[in-house]
Amino acid sequence: MLVSAKDMLEKARDGKYAVGQFNINNLEWTKAVLQTAEEMKSPVILGVSEGAGKYMTGYKTVAAMVKAMIEELKITVPVALHLDHGSYDGCYKCIEAGFSSIMFDGSHYPIAENVEKTTELVKVCAEKGLSIEAEVGSIGGEEDGVVGMGECADPDECKQVADLGVTMLAAGIGNIHGKYPENWAGLSFDTLAAIKDKVGDMPLVLHGGTGIPEDQIKKAISLGVAKINVNTECQLSFADGTRKYIEAGKDLEGKGFDPRKLLAPGTEAIKATVKEKMELFGSVGKA
Ligand SMILES: [Zn+2]
Repeated sequence: MLVSAKDMLEKARDGKYAVGQFNINNLEWTKAVLQTAEEMKSPVILGVSEGAGKYMTGYKTVAAMVKAMIEELKITVPVALHLDHGSYDGCYKCIEAGFSSIMFDGSHYPIAENVEKTTELVKVCAEKGLSIEAEVGSIGGEEDGVVGMGECADPDECKQVADLGVTMLAAGIGNIHGKYPENWAGLSFDTLAAIKDKVGDMPLVLHGGTGIPEDQIKKAISLGVAKINVNTECQLSFADGTRKYIEAGKDLEGKGFDPRKLLAPGTEAIKATVKEKMELFGSVGKA
């Protein structure tokens, strides 16, 4: 069922595990994530970036597809449909389209403007029963055109934004989007602990879940991270599965060119990655 992310994240925080946000790009992606969540009896968050929303022809298409798929596949685990790194306008479009959760990424605004816009969106989301994620301290990575080393958020600014009534808070703790550089220093647990100290019960979000060593993921969860975003890793798995199929010449055998056959290995590879992450995050059997 489509729900806001609030309950699942509060349960995760209390139970010391994390719910995975898996970004979707098309029908196969959505199906793979939903089926795996159901199989694993895990709550799940479907992430949609503005680019992916545009690719899928718009947020209304995405919301309609996800709602119909939950029904047709008889998905019983809690599913949140969440806008990832939303702009101010994008947030309103997703609220209107029927998403159950949004992230307003105001991290590129001065803190005062971030606070003002977040406050407004918190109010709208509360009225409509949506969960809302805010971000403090830009989380770098290839999204910004360059691979940064990952900033650390100011714990006082985190408290200021958490106090606005957001559901969950993304804060930079040295994490970045995309693949991590060889000389990456690792997550800053001192920063995470300082943020947790300031924001109390607020479920924290770790972006850039691809390539963070398992022990660091587990430590982050123990320190209050209740949502972990996975995007690049599913893309790499899908590409790998698809490449192997084509390199083996399977598309040239019989009806191997049929898209339902051609896209199957990539889809199965996404499922395997999602399963692996749910096991690592501890969300298996929590739905
Ligand atoms: Zn992110």
